[in-house]
Amino acid sequence: MSNQTLQVAQLSAAAGEKLFGTVEFPVQGQPYRLPLWLIHGDQPGPTLVVTGGVHAAEYASIAAALELGQSLAPTGLHGRVIVVPVVNIPGFAARSIYVCPLDGKNPNRVFPGDPTGTASEQLADWLFRNVISLADYYVDMHGGDLIEELIPFTIFFRSGNEQVDAKSLEIAKVFGIPYLVPSVNPGSTIAAASAAGIPAILTESGAQGIWTADQVADHTNGLQRLMQHLNMIPGGSPEPTQSTVLEHFHWLRSDHEGFWYPQVAAGDTVHAGQVLGCVKDWEGNILQTGHSPDHGTVLFIVSSLAIHQNDPLFAVGA
Ligand SMILES: [Zn+2]
Repeated sequence: MSNQTLQVAQLSAAAGEKLFGTVEFPVQGQPYRLPLWLIHGDQPGPTLVVTGGVHAAEYASIAAALELGQSLAPTGLHGRVIVVPVVNIPGFAARSIYVCPLDGKNPNRVFPGDPTGTASEQLADWLFRNVISLADYYVDMHGGDLIEELIPFTIFFRSGNEQVDAKSLEIAKVFGIPYLVPSVNPGSTIAAASAAGIPAILTESGAQGIWTADQVADHTNGLQRLMQHLNMIPGGSPEPTQSTVLEHFHWLRSDHEGFWYPQVAAGDTVHAGQVLGCVKDWEGNILQTGHSPDHGTVLFIVSSLAIHQNDPLFAVGA
C-alpha cells in the first residue's frame, strides 16, 4: 500500500517524498482552497490521517497539526501521513464558533457529507472521499471552542462493528489523554470514518482561544505515541498511561436566549442534581437551572455570558 503514490486531488507524493500544498475544489460553485501535507514514508506501513480546525477556533488542535506537518520527515517513516491543519478555512478567517460561516452549520454534524448539499455538507463530502477514506487510522483534533472551558479528553466512536470499535478504543488509550468518552452520535468525522471501517478518535485539548504549549503537546505527544504504537516511527510501544472511560457523556443545552452564569469549572467533580449554572433573562430572573444529570466530571462548560437557545451549556462525563 505504501508504495503506491499518495494522492489527494492535484497533489501527490511518491514513497520517500514530503509535500506541502493547497488543493482546490468547488464548494457551492466557489473554489475552496485547503492547505495540507502529504508525508509519504520511505518504508511500508499504514496510512494515518490527521485533521485539525474542523472547528476553526480550537487553536491547540490546529497548532498541533501544523507542528506535526512541519516536523515529520518521510525518511525512516513507515507508512503515510496526511495532515490537514485547518479544515474549516472560512471559519478560521472569521474566528467563528461551532460553525462554518458559509452555511451556519456545524461541520462536525454533517459527515460523511453530501455533494449536492450546503457548503459544510459539500466540504465534508469532499474531505471524506478524498482524504479520510484513505486512512487506516484517523485522528480528528479538537478542543474547547472560543467560549468553552474544557479539560482534555478523547472521544472514541462506537459503531457496532466490534473490530473497528476495539481498535478505536485501543488508539484512544494509546493517545495518552486520561479521560476517554464513547460516542454513538452520527454526523461526526469519526462516526463517518468508523462506519467506513476506519478506527477513529477525536481528541480534545485547549479552549477559549488559548493554545498553551501543554495543550498543544496533549495532541502532539498523543500523535507521537500513536505513531510509535503503530510502528510508523521508532521508539517502540509507548509507556501505558492511566485512563478512565467515562461511559456517559451528558450534555445540557440552553432552552432560552439569555445570560449564562456557570457555577463550576471544567474538571470539577459534581454530583447528580447539583446546580452547575443558570440562564437568566434581561432582568436577571432565572429562566433555567442547569442541574448535573449524574455524578461525574465536568468535561467542558461554556464561559460566555451571552447564550443562545439550544447552545450547549456544559457536558458531564460519568
Ligand atoms: Zn470541536
